[in-house]
Amino acid sequence: MKLDPKALRYMSSEEFRVLTAIEIGSRNHSIVPAPLIAQLSHLRSGSINKHIGDLIKRKLIASESSSKYVGYKLVYSGYDHLALRTLSKRGSVVSVGNQIGVGKESDIFVVAGEDEQEVVLKLHRLGRQSFRSVKLKRDYFRATQSPSWMYMSRLSATKEFAFMKVLHEHGFPVPTPIDQNRHCVVMELVAAFPLRQIDRLDEPGRLYSQLMDLIVRLAKYGLIHGDFNEFNILLKDGTTPILIDFPQMVSTSHPNAEYYFNRDVDCIRTFFKRRFGYESALYPKFTAKLDKDFDLDVKVAASGFTKKDQTQLERFMQMEHGGAAEQQENEGEEDDLPSDEELVYSSDSDSDDNGNGTSSGKNDSDGDSAGNDDDDYI
Ligand code: ADP
Ligand code: MG
Repeated sequence: MKLDPKALRYMSSEEFRVLTAIEIGSRNHSIVPAPLIAQLSHLRSGSINKHIGDLIKRKLIASESSSKYVGYKLVYSGYDHLALRTLSKRGSVVSVGNQIGVGKESDIFVVAGEDEQEVVLKLHRLGRQSFRSVKLKRDYFRATQSPSWMYMSRLSATKEFAFMKVLHEHGFPVPTPIDQNRHCVVMELVAAFPLRQIDRLDEPGRLYSQLMDLIVRLAKYGLIHGDFNEFNILLKDGTTPILIDFPQMVSTSHPNAEYYFNRDVDCIRTFFKRRFGYESALYPKFTAKLDKDFDLDVKVAASGFTKKDQTQLERFMQMEHGGAAEQQENEGEEDDLPSDEELVYSSDSDSDDNGNGTSSGKNDSDGDSAGNDDDDYI
């Protein structure tokens, strides 16, 4: 997925009004008819048709016909534009630079933030995996139209930001969270490589202990990372681990907490053995009676990412990833994928007007018009 900052710069405010109207219309319509776009954007239908044509040409929206009418849908790049517009109005993203990562479920860019300093923009892309997964699932989601890929991506970004914020506030080694809107998170750029890229360590035992201590400390605060591996640990100055990637975090009171905890521990043990030839008889074991310092999970819920959101996202992610055996079965099924442009937004969600479900973070605390900054287009 490419981000085209030029397209953003050259987009007129009327085009943004049309794009925003389609986003809002999508909450109740899987395809949004032109008269509704006109009503929501307060633009004349003559100019709307021209804008719709331009937006389709630039692959920001797609047209589709139902049995009753022709309508329009937002596609991923259109959603990117809406989020970037909001983030740039808030000053969190001033310009977009190079892409530094294409994860399974994200695109990562270095961007210029406030005061021109380099920061990271992570665009969550849930649903990419689903398309690579079983055809049955694809049919299931097509049939129900819900939950939408973009709604889930927004939930994933909201969750990541909420957890990063709470962890940061409690002194955990994570990037400084900066801002969040829709499916995007802006955070500190950590000058470090993922552990995956490190071939040699002077003292593997030292880092091993640091990482196990981190897993235990998280659990003492009621949390399990859930994807604690060499890709999600950045090694700063060759010695200090920084933890990233939080959409799959679970509470230690989750019914499968022990499984997730042990899996995190095993990932590190296996990696250290394979990569550094390091093995230790010492490793933490999950106990339900962990002497919890306090429950960060509760704090996250209080920040706006609710238990209901958590359950919904978890169910979706489980369906995306399936079991390990299932994933193997599906390898080689990657042909015949719809392009990102075909992934459409048809949310029946309760998303608020700026697409930001969290009440935490910059958007609330800085007192600017972020809470309704898209409303001025409507
Ligand atoms: P995914 O969910 O797709 O795995 P991650 O959050 O793990 O996304 O990011 C993917 C990659 O992008 C990481 O392995 C790392 O190389 C890079 N990255 C992500 N966040 C940062 C950051 N804050 N600073 C530096 N590099 C980062
Ligand atoms: Mg990752």
